[in-house]
Amino acid sequence: MFGPLVSKPGSSRKNKTGSWRIESKPNFLKKNCLGCKLCVLVCPENCVKETAKNVFEVDLSYCKGCGMCAMICPKKEIEMVKEDKSK
Ligand code: SF4
Ligand code: SF4
Repeated sequence: MFGPLVSKPGSSRKNKTGSWRIESKPNFLKKNCLGCKLCVLVCPENCVKETAKNVFEVDLSYCKGCGMCAMICPKKEIEMVKEDKSK
């Protein structure tokens, strides 16, 4: 379930780690977000940003699809969706 992880959080910022994503990407439902920012804190790539109050977006250029944000979200606001990179 977990994708490749780096030893230091954010240490691969210079690389576009989004290409490491194998299966799925996070989809933020933007319905019941508490604004707790756990998804921001847990992301090893620091690629989740708050773009407005209680609105969070992911930069897919860096997201590795590890699913940690979806796992930690107390409101189940983030779902991991399959993506077909061959398209
Ligand atoms: S799946 Fe979530 S926690 Fe993992 S890299 Fe992508 S945005 Fe960050
Ligand atoms: S972890 Fe879930 S509830 Fe908390 S800020 Fe992120 S999306 Fe919102």
